[in-house]
Amino acid sequence: MKDMILKVRNLKVHFPVKGEILPRVVGHVKAVDDVSFRIGYGETLGLVGESGCGKTTTGRAMIRLIKAQAGQVLFEGKDILQLGKQDLNAVRKNIQMIFQDPFAALNPRMSIGDAIEEVLYIHNYGSKQARRKRAAELIETVELNRAYLSRYPHELSGGQRQRIVLARALAVDPKLIICDEPVSALDVSIQAQTVNLLEDLQKHFNIAYLFISHDLSVVKHLSKRIAVMYLGKIVETADSEELFAHPSHPYTRALLDSVPSIDPDMKKERVLLEGDMPSMTEQGQGCRFHSRCPNVMERCYHEEPQTIDVGGGHAVDCHLYAVE
Ligand code: SF4
Repeated sequence: MKDMILKVRNLKVHFPVKGEILPRVVGHVKAVDDVSFRIGYGETLGLVGESGCGKTTTGRAMIRLIKAQAGQVLFEGKDILQLGKQDLNAVRKNIQMIFQDPFAALNPRMSIGDAIEEVLYIHNYGSKQARRKRAAELIETVELNRAYLSRYPHELSGGQRQRIVLARALAVDPKLIICDEPVSALDVSIQAQTVNLLEDLQKHFNIAYLFISHDLSVVKHLSKRIAVMYLGKIVETADSEELFAHPSHPYTRALLDSVPSIDPDMKKERVLLEGDMPSMTEQGQGCRFHSRCPNVMERCYHEEPQTIDVGGGHAVDCHLYAVE
């Protein structure tokens, strides 16, 4: 097994809910509830789930863009949640985050060359001439022509802008990049190119990725392991091939069935995910998937399932696998 660059243990992010009449706290939304996972050096973990399941909050809490209430985020053995300002800044240089909307991440009044050089300047990289040379190298690293350095964000396509965001992230030689839905706003053909580029960069620079997406088919290509998240909790984790061959949690099976297939035999057995994900404030007792689960049983309504190891590093939170 590869050495781990990141270990997240029992991470919790709970937001207070205020009463409608009096502004006092009447409850908590458990946006991230006891989430644990690990990522090896140069490895990708896919974190998958529907919009609003807590996967973005997990990524943001890891680098303290959102405050976590409990847990550990161990990056090369140091708990990010406990670091002082100076150590936190040093760690943040090693962990970059890219988002769904590259346009929002770029200053529309700044040329692409200046946008890349800005990151180098912030991190005290050499002279102006050295920064210009490095910006030209970085734009070629993300497979764009140097001519783009003099252009502005509005002159680029969505895919090209995402490459510039990636070039800025690479400027500080990160060891881990949190990719939050980085391709979901792009056309399908551009998605594939961007995922291939991420894969090439990983091989070349040994970067680890936490790849957050609502789309299992996008995550499959890049991820060694996949964690499936539902209503603030990871409900299934397995190696990518194992997860696609033997999806065990009813939610994972429904997510997989929502991926279009050209195989006519597959269509007969599809389990469709009905209804929307309940609000996090509606979480009651029992399994948080029970209101949508085709396999729901009596105990699912009042007993929360524990994590069960079904073998080969495949773990699932579901009463279907409980051995009495
Ligand atoms: Fe469905 Fe019950 Fe398993 Fe939850 S514990 S996923 S409700 S079978």
